[in-house]
Amino acid sequence: MKEPNLTDYARLYQHFDWQNERTQLAGLPDGKGLNIAHEAVDRHASGNLKNTVALRFIRKNGSTDDYTYGDLKTRTSKFANLLQSLGLEEGDRVFSLLGRVPDLYIAALGSLKFKAVFCPLFSVFGPEPIFQRLSKGDAKVLVTNTAFYEKKIKGLLDRLPALNYILLTDSPQHLDEKVLSLTKLMGEASGEFSIPPTDPEDPALLHFTSGTTGMPKGALHVHQAVLTHYSTGKYVLDFHEGDIFWCTADPGWVTGTSYGIIAPLVNGVTSIVDEEEFDGLRWYSILEKQKVNVWYTAPTAIRRLMRMEIVPKEKYDLSKLRLVLSVGEPLHAGAVIWGQKAFGVPVLDNWWQTETGGIMIANYSSMEVKPGSMGKPLPGIIAAIADVEGQEIKIYDQPGMQGHLVLKKGFPSLFRGYLHEEERYKKCFKGDWYITGDLAKKDADGYFWFIGRADDIIKTSGHMVGPFEVESTLMKHPAVAEAAVIGKPEPSIGELVKAFVVLKEGFEPTDGMQLELIGFARKTMGPAVAPKEITFIDSLPKTKSGKILRRLLKARELGLPEGDLSTLEKS
Ligand code: ATP
Ligand code: MG
Repeated sequence: MKEPNLTDYARLYQHFDWQNERTQLAGLPDGKGLNIAHEAVDRHASGNLKNTVALRFIRKNGSTDDYTYGDLKTRTSKFANLLQSLGLEEGDRVFSLLGRVPDLYIAALGSLKFKAVFCPLFSVFGPEPIFQRLSKGDAKVLVTNTAFYEKKIKGLLDRLPALNYILLTDSPQHLDEKVLSLTKLMGEASGEFSIPPTDPEDPALLHFTSGTTGMPKGALHVHQAVLTHYSTGKYVLDFHEGDIFWCTADPGWVTGTSYGIIAPLVNGVTSIVDEEEFDGLRWYSILEKQKVNVWYTAPTAIRRLMRMEIVPKEKYDLSKLRLVLSVGEPLHAGAVIWGQKAFGVPVLDNWWQTETGGIMIANYSSMEVKPGSMGKPLPGIIAAIADVEGQEIKIYDQPGMQGHLVLKKGFPSLFRGYLHEEERYKKCFKGDWYITGDLAKKDADGYFWFIGRADDIIKTSGHMVGPFEVESTLMKHPAVAEAAVIGKPEPSIGELVKAFVVLKEGFEPTDGMQLELIGFARKTMGPAVAPKEITFIDSLPKTKSGKILRRLLKARELGLPEGDLSTLEKS
């Protein structure tokens, strides 16, 4: 067993220093600054990782396609050169609309080399959400394929006058002066590119949030975010030389870029990219066949695997697997315990957001895991629970207090703005603190526990109830596969706790089952917090990144407008 990179949390936390992390990265030659693509690709390609596989793509049909660090350097240089030849300027925005195929990764890293700002879009978006993002993001270039272009983009062009070029990955010829063949341009471009001086504060990435609580916001990140990617790769994902890592997230969401592209490459490991969507058996066999050491996935996937009732470590050879990690939503204690048994390795929940650019609070393999907790802040990150209502922020010193989760400003990957929403950005800060919009509590041992998004909190009979707590309880019942909880206005008590429940196969949605679940919750949580109403539902509405859309359940329940549904996963 490999010794974890983080062996003594308390000690590292005390001594951690971002300047010291900076010295472990190369920086551009001749002191010309810090560029993500140089740290992720070029420095490795000029060193002894040149022939090491950086990215292994698994196509839908199961065949694989390897890119070494050396290959990536040449191809991303070509991409940077072609942006130059198209007359782009630093800071211009390059978007992609692609599945998880090599061109997406090359465009991302090539754009960073050129110092364009890269924004990956999730390929399943329909035309309108694509339009909103391209226009809000002032896209100059879009990299896509012919099918998406024909189906989703062509009809938008009149409304996107600032979009200068569309680069088609699969067209051998240019279609006109605006719609060009990426293959042809790549063929003509030089594979040598010298990255221009990059200030650590130069903009690098634009990421739209998941839209779980409303209209997605465009969060802007800078090149020095790479320090967080590097450091969290080392201490949370625990990358070791020679590791095979698999992040299941799509780069259209921040996890798929920060951890599906940047962090593993910066740490010099091999990263698996699967083109296909969730498929439990396929995923298990990828873990086995690719000899994955570290696996980063999401609660929605873990819940689906739990429903399959396979114990993967009994059916598959997972002897290389060291760690399973999860992000995106709360991971309930039951899933942590199931995962530890089913995989035979620690299952580590961690918390962060599009705005924080990288992991902020985490469980570590060398630290006791308290199932259901998000863990402790990363070395270099100061997190606290606070009252944010007054003029000044009030940090709670007492353990166990519920309040807003806040982070001290000043870490490298904190977003530097919401695109075209200056006021909204300003509202996220008070004094030295960034207000995350999530509520949590911190226990006496310093572990953080998620309560809910401030927007989702239910106020009932004088209690503040977080939906996660109720959902986790319901999920302890053997009949429950998934649950989502909302507050429904009820004059006498403020709000009534209402649950939507998906039953496991073999269980019937009867009145008796309803009573049984309400009784079960009342016994476990007490009558004040337990749901008073339960509705059975075939599946929960989720974002395309797999998060439960409670606001949509609530709007439907109350007959209110459904709001922005651009990120709704169609079931
Ligand atoms: P929007 O801001 O548009 O409503 P979003 O907040 O879901 O969407 P993301 O930035 O992708 O968009 O998600 C971050 C949020 O996801 C966090 O603020 C938190 O509410 C939730 N989250 C992420 N990881 C965890 C976790 N480990 N435990 C609990 N909640 C988590
Ligand atoms: Mg958010």
